[in-house]
Amino acid sequence: MGLATIEGMKLSNQPHLLDALAAMNIHTFEDVLLHVPYRYEDFSLTQEKLYHDQQRLVLTGTITTTPTVFRKGKFVTVRFTMRDQHQHLMHIVAFNRPYLAKMIIPLTTVTVVGKYDATRQTVNMLTMIKGEVSKEKTFKPLYRLPGNLELHWFSRLVQKALSLLPTLSFPQILPNALLTKFGLMEKKQALAIIHQPLNLTDVEEAMKIFKYEEAFTFTKTMQAIREENLATIKEQVSPFDARKLQALMQQLPYALTEDQHLALNEILQDLKDRKRMYRLLQGDVGSGKTVVAALALYANALRKQQGALMAPTDALAKQHFLTIQQLLKPTGLTMSLLVGSMTSAEKKAIKESLLNGTIDLLIGTHALFSSDTVFFDLGLAVIDEQHRFGVNQRELLKDKGQHADLLMMSATPIPRSLAMTVYADMDISTLMQFPFKERRVQTKILPEGDALIDYVITSALANQKRIYVIAPKIQTSDSGKQSVITLAKAYQQKYPKLVGLLHGQMDQADKDAALEAFSQGHLPILVSTTVVEVGIDVKPATVMIIHDADTFGLASLHQLRGRIGRDGSEALCLLVVQDEQVEGISRLQVLVDSNDGFYIAEQDLALRGPGEILGSRQAGIPGFQYLNIVKDQPIIQEIKAYLKQH
Ligand code: ADP
Ligand code: MG
Repeated sequence: MGLATIEGMKLSNQPHLLDALAAMNIHTFEDVLLHVPYRYEDFSLTQEKLYHDQQRLVLTGTITTTPTVFRKGKFVTVRFTMRDQHQHLMHIVAFNRPYLAKMIIPLTTVTVVGKYDATRQTVNMLTMIKGEVSKEKTFKPLYRLPGNLELHWFSRLVQKALSLLPTLSFPQILPNALLTKFGLMEKKQALAIIHQPLNLTDVEEAMKIFKYEEAFTFTKTMQAIREENLATIKEQVSPFDARKLQALMQQLPYALTEDQHLALNEILQDLKDRKRMYRLLQGDVGSGKTVVAALALYANALRKQQGALMAPTDALAKQHFLTIQQLLKPTGLTMSLLVGSMTSAEKKAIKESLLNGTIDLLIGTHALFSSDTVFFDLGLAVIDEQHRFGVNQRELLKDKGQHADLLMMSATPIPRSLAMTVYADMDISTLMQFPFKERRVQTKILPEGDALIDYVITSALANQKRIYVIAPKIQTSDSGKQSVITLAKAYQQKYPKLVGLLHGQMDQADKDAALEAFSQGHLPILVSTTVVEVGIDVKPATVMIIHDADTFGLASLHQLRGRIGRDGSEALCLLVVQDEQVEGISRLQVLVDSNDGFYIAEQDLALRGPGEILGSRQAGIPGFQYLNIVKDQPIIQEIKAYLKQH
């Protein structure tokens, strides 16, 4: 049922509210109800008669005093006492909410939620409601809403929608057999519970229908994509001389790890197969994916086909070019680099040799995608840091070869069962081992301005080391988050002539110069945005200071700190936060406790959902609205098992 047509909410003459709803994909009352709460505020009265320190209390009873209001500058304290459900006389205090004073009327009944402070024998009030809380209102739904929509307004809309529930209709997507098999509730009944529960166990039961449905739709879509991939047959499969590949491996400066061997074999198998390779090689930062890619590209060249390797930034493309040139030196392959910063004459020359087949292997950035980059015979495309590229770009590249084999690499590895859900359309190879003993990056959480920061910088400078300083933004805005421009100025004042600046909006030449000055040690402190996240390899960098660390995802932070300690020396990552009390901080503890990229990515998926890790890959693949991809794995597995049998 359309929202604008409904009387009573005055929606039709408040187009901005309708627009805000439309932006959330809410167009009908059905959509309103399908926007489920992300959590509930619990107003169940505290049962225990003895309260302990820091306990969350829900108290109801009569106010026994008039409020006292105490002002000191901007600071306002409101105090009163009440007799609660256990007949305790309780002192209640509310900070910085002077308007509450009006609501506090002696002898009236209120319900108060707060935290008990045993030393002061007071309750720090969080919420207050007039009267007693009715049974139906014990669990107050909280909805995720954009800034221009208020919770109380949306809650009213939900009430309206609930009153219309009998007239609404929700299509059934799951087959009847599945509904019965998993004992799933009917949707309308489920929604009534979800938006107005009497207890939280009911909510869990009611949510199942939506979770199972989402798992069902997701799995089916992924299966369809995978089947399409499997159906792509290469025009020709030329063999390659395995002895030549062996010979090259003998000449490498090191022996491959067992995992690298296994992954390489899986890739070589794909190269021989008639079906097109569509494989993800995942491994933590430093697990050694590059050499595996280089060997695969050599095998591809041995079947007399061209290869391409694509990286998300110029710097990373250049670095790959140098590394792979070194690794493949004995092979005599003709390699070229194609990046955005080259002159058009240089690009033109490369594109000509590419088209006539004189270039065997091309390494570059998205310049590889441009429509005038035409390969003579592309056999294998490798995409590093795949989550940085959108699906469409990959489609583009795919069309550059006659169904070229595709190898994607990701430095955000996730546990196998999860990977098989998230990347169900691909084959997966995983590097679990590290070639070296695991690098030890010590990580600490500190408040802004902590003296340790300067101490760490000074001692790193004294040891000729390099220091990364990372901030979330380029320019300062009203968000109050640190920007690299202002930070660079502040650091320059403390450390004159030692600070460089790097961010995505700089010219390529300036970026290169900044990295060069950092790497050579002329400007040993680099203030940068997360552009350094991807693959930059400056060996003497041992310190990383990340400002506003709580604004980043765990997987990003783990990638960032993967940039330090690369020469094997002790490294230190400081996660600096403006306020140690904010909610995002406890999440950061995962990084202090663990260096395991698999575990960290899993935690990130559970907390933030797959958006960040999958990046633009999400395009064309359904996202999750109801499922927690980590916690709800059992549901996804059940659906997979069911679909396998049917
Ligand atoms: P990532 O998986 O993060 O891309 P790299 O491919 O950059 O990792 O490898 C990290 C480092 O490990 C490089 O310096 C590389 O030379 C080295 N390396 C890779 N494989 C081995 C190995 N089997 N033995 C020793 N060192 C290795
Ligand atoms: Mg890499």
